[in-house]
Amino acid sequence: MSAPLIDPFQRAVTYLRVSVTDRCDFRCTYCMSENMTFLPKRDLLTLEELDSVSSAFISLGVRKLRITGGEPLVRRNIMSYFRAMSRHLESGELDELTLTTNGSQLHRFADDLAALGVRRVNISLDTLDDEKFNRITRWGRLANVLRGIDAAQSAGLRVKINTVALRSFNEDELFALVEWCADRDMDLTLIEVMPMGDLGAEDRLDQYWPLSDLRGRLQEFYTLTDLDERTGGPARYVRLEETGQKIGFITPLTHNFCESCNRVRLTCTGELYTCLGQEGCSDLRPSLREPMAPSLEEAIRAAIGLKPKGHDFDYSRQSVAGQVSRHMSHTGG
Ligand code: SAM
Ligand code: SF4
Repeated sequence: MSAPLIDPFQRAVTYLRVSVTDRCDFRCTYCMSENMTFLPKRDLLTLEELDSVSSAFISLGVRKLRITGGEPLVRRNIMSYFRAMSRHLESGELDELTLTTNGSQLHRFADDLAALGVRRVNISLDTLDDEKFNRITRWGRLANVLRGIDAAQSAGLRVKINTVALRSFNEDELFALVEWCADRDMDLTLIEVMPMGDLGAEDRLDQYWPLSDLRGRLQEFYTLTDLDERTGGPARYVRLEETGQKIGFITPLTHNFCESCNRVRLTCTGELYTCLGQEGCSDLRPSLREPMAPSLEEAIRAAIGLKPKGHDFDYSRQSVAGQVSRHMSHTGG
């Protein structure tokens, strides 16, 4: 058994997020511009290469794998990658295989995912209103996502809804979303919008709705109990005593969660980002394609040795600080 991956701040890296494509069938306004330029397909790691890198991480102690994108379910033949990863669930080396999706294609894949050992899925949904859904996703259709959620639940997958808190957009739907999730026995995680990708600082500040404010609103109607529970992700959880449901808050801006960070992110081109909020990354592709390059294990260990202490996002001075230039769809959410 190889030594575990430990970063310079003594954090063990046990969680890998893999962005399998930068493409998407939506164009959410806070994530992408409408006329995004995507990477040429030849730059993408093949599914076999993604398998090699993911498996190398698992042999170095990664226990949790989340597949993301772009929209992971639009990558051609993606089920063969899930099938490859499911062998690590069977061997017991991996505790969890999961994905984050916009839900548009889920009705086609929910049964296969469940059969391959996926137990939970995060589905992103910012509004329950058709017209607003069109406005925020530009290209998406709410009915498809609702169909995907139905399919996931019928297949026995536990669903968590991820909602980005957007000022003047879904402020008025906070209670509707909470109640809808409670009725359908789904968890809900609320996310603060992060300054990623070039959408203009003005847009970001307009969109930003601090979760401290949102939490205050919930407290007017519900009794909130803070939970100790951590799932290896950045969310902090509360229980709403009246409904028993769990609500997560991802607050990179109002609460810095970096001290317990256990994760790294692989892009579809083989770059490894050891921090979502910093520009630096290491390229693992040479280790896959060039015979004279360092081995994958050496390249991964060297990259983990550069993991920064944390991000520098900050809106507190009424301007956007710490912005990173790449879009969230590049590194995966
Ligand atoms: N396409 C999939 C989806 O939407 O779930 C997976 C990739 S998407 C980049 C992952 C998550 O990142 C989504 O929940 C999305 O809402 C969130 N996201 C995208 N851009 C963001 C930003 N600038 N700030 C905060 N969350 C963002
Ligand atoms: Fe696509 Fe997800 Fe980004 Fe929306 S948030 S554009 S669904 S990658």
